[in-house]
Amino acid sequence: MLKFLVEDECVQSYLIQSNYEKNVLFHRGASAREVFEKSKDKIHEWSVSGVDKVIACLGTNDIVNMQYDKTDVKEVVGKISSVVTELKEFCSQRHVNLVYVMPGVIGSVSLPIMTEVYAGIHACLEESGVMYVDTPRLMMSSYLGSMSFEDSVRQGTTDGIHWVFRVGQQILKSALEKFGIGCILENVQGSCYFLMLKKYAANRCYRCGKTSHGRKDCNYNRRVRCEWCGSETHVQSVCGFKFMPCTHCGEVGHYMGHNTQCPYWRRRQCERGTDDDGNMS
Ligand SMILES: [Zn+2]
Ligand SMILES: [Zn+2]
Ligand SMILES: [Zn+2]
Repeated sequence: MLKFLVEDECVQSYLIQSNYEKNVLFHRGASAREVFEKSKDKIHEWSVSGVDKVIACLGTNDIVNMQYDKTDVKEVVGKISSVVTELKEFCSQRHVNLVYVMPGVIGSVSLPIMTEVYAGIHACLEESGVMYVDTPRLMMSSYLGSMSFEDSVRQGTTDGIHWVFRVGQQILKSALEKFGIGCILENVQGSCYFLMLKKYAANRCYRCGKTSHGRKDCNYNRRVRCEWCGSETHVQSVCGFKFMPCTHCGEVGHYMGHNTQCPYWRRRQCERGTDDDGNMS
């Protein structure tokens, strides 16, 4: 669900400027429990490196994948709630503050079922004292004025599940507000690619990588080719992609400008043999 973090230019440039890009983790299609289990090591690692705030969104896939009878609703609420409680405990032990981002409105789930699921999660969050972003409420009421459930699905998501960038920005803002951090996501100055270069390869020629001149004055008269992304407009030491988070999985270190080079994406293609973009939590 946090796809906007690496796909929305506004948010991405905010992450880059705040040095958050290495602390983004996606688990596409994973259940709440899987997200927690797969994130433990990283959260621990981050806490050791001084990170003291974590924003987590999980539970969407549990809700999307549930069957719609009563016992199932209770079970799903129970699963999500216990994971959030455990995650909070896990974070507290490491002196990390947690903000939980609730799943948003989901097109395939009826309003009564959704209301029941969210009421259950709410009750648990209030009881355990977890800070949280009330995503469905935000999607149905906030920035566009009061909206019906159907409208919020239509206008707030691209496919009934994934948020449009505008919603993602609002969610990130309110999550940061819980930590007392304000942020402006409106203005993007230059592309993220160049933001990365400014950050990691400042004072270099963005064509040949030398420090003696800028790109405009490049006098390096041989062909250049990037060993990283294959481009013939620059060399590897000044490849912006190298520093950018992958738009499929959020990891820094293998992005070359498109999803198809992502090891997780490739593995998924092999497993499924389809071009499924999937869900994430
Ligand atoms: Zn040059
Ligand atoms: Zn390159
Ligand atoms: Zn990737």
